[in-house]
Amino acid sequence: MKKTGEICKIDNLGRIVIPVKLRKEFDLEPGTPLEIFYDDEGFFIKRYIPVCVFCGSEDDLTQKNGKCICAKCIGEFTKG
Ligand SMILES: [Zn+2]
Repeated sequence: MKKTGEICKIDNLGRIVIPVKLRKEFDLEPGTPLEIFYDDEGFFIKRYIPVCVFCGSEDDLTQKNGKCICAKCIGEFTKG
């Protein structure tokens, strides 16, 4: 992971501003969904990419009750 050299402060509501340089580089528009990951050393933020809850595929997704399922898994469940 690269160091950006950017320092930001958390405001009273717990928000931070993602530096404009990074927003442009990663094409982050207002409303872009982001996902937060963490480990013992800290956390990082990544564009949220929906995946199938059963197999992890990113292809042919259908959303049902906020969960994503791929066409292949739907096919396997409907086979009986
Ligand atoms: Zn699947």
